[in-house]
Amino acid sequence: MALRDLSRRRRDEARIRHLALHDALTDLPNRTLLEERLGLALENAAENGTSVALAYLDLDRFKPVNDFHGHAAGDALLVQAAKRMLAELRPTDTLARIGGDEFVIVLAHTRTLAQVAETAERLVAALGRPFQIEGQIGGPIEGLRIEIGASVGIALYPSDGSTAESLKRAADTALYRVKDEGRGAVRFFEAAMDEQLQARRRIEHELSGAIARGELALDYQPIVNGQTGEIETFEALIRWHHPERGCVFPADFIPLAEQTDQIGRIGAWVLDTACAAAVAWPHPWRVSVNVSPKQFRQPGFAAGVAAVLGRHGLSPGRLVLEITEGVFIHDAATALEVLTALRTLGVRLALDDFGTGYSSLSYLQRFQFDKIKVDRSFVRRLGQHADALTIVRAITHLGHNLGLKVTVEGVETQEQLAVLRELGCDQMQGYLFARPAPMTNLSETGPSDRARLRALFSDEAARACA
Ligand code: C2E
Ligand code: MG
Ligand code: MG
Repeated sequence: MALRDLSRRRRDEARIRHLALHDALTDLPNRTLLEERLGLALENAAENGTSVALAYLDLDRFKPVNDFHGHAAGDALLVQAAKRMLAELRPTDTLARIGGDEFVIVLAHTRTLAQVAETAERLVAALGRPFQIEGQIGGPIEGLRIEIGASVGIALYPSDGSTAESLKRAADTALYRVKDEGRGAVRFFEAAMDEQLQARRRIEHELSGAIARGELALDYQPIVNGQTGEIETFEALIRWHHPERGCVFPADFIPLAEQTDQIGRIGAWVLDTACAAAVAWPHPWRVSVNVSPKQFRQPGFAAGVAAVLGRHGLSPGRLVLEITEGVFIHDAATALEVLTALRTLGVRLALDDFGTGYSSLSYLQRFQFDKIKVDRSFVRRLGQHADALTIVRAITHLGHNLGLKVTVEGVETQEQLAVLRELGCDQMQGYLFARPAPMTNLSETGPSDRARLRALFSDEAARACA
């Protein structure tokens, strides 16, 4: 009896020990066991002068599986994924699961760099093949075919890090880079990645306090009538006046703000500042405000716009929101709802950077914009490539047939102006008319500036060009 009790206790203890070191779902080593194995592998390598490869692997597109097919399907997928990975590894390698869809692989006694790369590529290929998830007959996950993928970042001991901590950080940095570049690939850590990542984190951190410190400002660029040169609208363009870096342009921080959820606050600040400015303008010029896709997708965006207009007493017809095709990518139906709400408010809507995205036409047919803005890359190529003229002409005709105004961006020369005028473009914007500048400068030079703009559209100017 005593012996039976003892062996049962031993079995229970072993089970508990196993549970403490393994992931209950996949039975792979967990974070604790991973640390232990990694530590041992590094000690071994240090003694024998060999190397170790540490790979961070994240499944791509796993979250939607859980969201759309339920956790049972997600769990079944993880179990299969773990099996596929194990099949590609050697018994001396450690495959651990450290989070929902996050795995870590320790390749001890590492072979050549090429062999490590080859193993990682095999893992990515294995996880890229479709998964077949079988559930109960008639159940919710019966016969599902799911496609995911994987991203892998790799760091090597001792070259990329001499401790477990530094090695993990390096592998994580490499993984971050893969995801940034579009996932589904393998990257080895490079020292430059670390510098770039740190620079990026620094900007992220600094940007979070930029509004409070009053470092953000708006420049305004006139958009003029395509036949007369009269100013009709000013586009608000954000600038970050950084205490050390100087003027930072939106291309260098708006994408970052989008990735880190700071875009909501920044976008709200832009809208508020631009509307407050427009109310005080000496003429009823419109104000154009750029809205980034993520900002547009935030719940309550249309209501927020209404509130800002109300607060400043700006008539909705004087606000133009410039959006890009990006807003349609994730959820076109919701995007159309928000657009309809904005239109009901009386706000004008412009489709920015037209021609650079895809399936632009279908969106134009499904939703009534007020205008399209032809991307400046086409204007730049006018006079250099015959196809650019054909494209701008086609877009202009199409826009007019759909009852839209057509604005062209990036007009820099009198020759471009002549061609675009001939095509019947409704509005133009570009350095030829004015560069973006703080509004104070614009209103000081206002009237004479308007005379200069009209002169650009005069008959003499047109003749000189011809
Ligand atoms: P966009 O909306 O297409 O704005 C026009 C860009 O073209 C501006 O660049 C403007 O300075 C530039 N531009 C205007 N005329 C000419 C020209 O004749 N030649 C050339 N080469 N460029 C010209 P900027 O100010 O650097 O802004 C870049 C982009 O950043 C904008 O493109 C817009 O997508 C985004 N952006 C700017 N402000 C904001 C903002 O407040 N919120 C959001 N979400 N995005 C913004
Ligand atoms: Mg714009
Ligand atoms: Mg544009």
